[in-house]
Amino acid sequence: MASVSLRQIVKHYDKTAVLHGIDLDIADGELMVFVGPSGCGKSTLLRMIAGLENISSGDLHIGGVRANDIAPAQRKLAMVFQSYALYPHMTVYDNMAFALKLAGQKTPAIDAAVQRAADTLQISQLLQRKPSELSGGQRQRVAIGRAIVRTPELFLFDEPLSNLDASLRVQMRVEISRLHRELQTTMIYVTHDQVEAMTLGQRIAVFNGGRIEQVGTPHQLYNHP
Ligand code: ADP
Ligand code: ADP
Repeated sequence: MASVSLRQIVKHYDKTAVLHGIDLDIADGELMVFVGPSGCGKSTLLRMIAGLENISSGDLHIGGVRANDIAPAQRKLAMVFQSYALYPHMTVYDNMAFALKLAGQKTPAIDAAVQRAADTLQISQLLQRKPSELSGGQRQRVAIGRAIVRTPELFLFDEPLSNLDASLRVQMRVEISRLHRELQTTMIYVTHDQVEAMTLGQRIAVFNGGRIEQVGTPHQLYNHP
């Protein structure tokens, strides 16, 4: 698990500022949602936490360690994207095992990790299939499974359910909540969907125009809009 601390985080693209000094603390094991309209800077901030965008100014700490200049691969986090980004020529098993193989883990350890993740996500019966043979919901489970096997200390979700139909979205939200209860890992979840934010978030940061306007539990935000 890892806490995340953001202090006066600013992001410029050329001369345009898209984040204007973000201050936020996310506790160990917390499920924090970033919500707000398209273009307000949520995924830019998430990508900065992941190390996929550089930070124009300000301080990022992950697990109490200053992380501004730590390479993405060295941050113990996993990110799940809206597009599943699975390797099309590999089986589900190989997609999930890939990062562990790269990290030089031994086959029995890889097998065990993939099986455990597949059980958690109820995709054990799909391990020998190719992504093209799966439904959208199944693909998103594989994408989440691929993140879980690495036992990250921090999970980042960037609109992971936007491509799914409404009923599947509801089902996957329940799964992600359950996953959070099971793993007790810190999660940051980006969405433009207020209902999703309210049902998933332990706390919610409401973004607008590159600023956080409000932070609170769903109860606090609902009762003090
Ligand atoms: P959100 O995730 O809330 O939809 P983004 O973080 O994707 O918002 O984008 C915030 C703003 O930054 C938008 O105005 C977007 O056009 C701009 N932006 C994002 N990425 C880039 C980039 N690589 N170059 C220039 N502007 C960008
Ligand atoms: P989101 O779904 O978060 O709103 P976008 O569709 O805005 O994302 O952006 C998708 C990709 O395009 C991102 O990698 C982002 O960095 C890039 N991007 C967004 N806006 C701009 C921009 N104005 N100029 C250059 N790249 C951009």
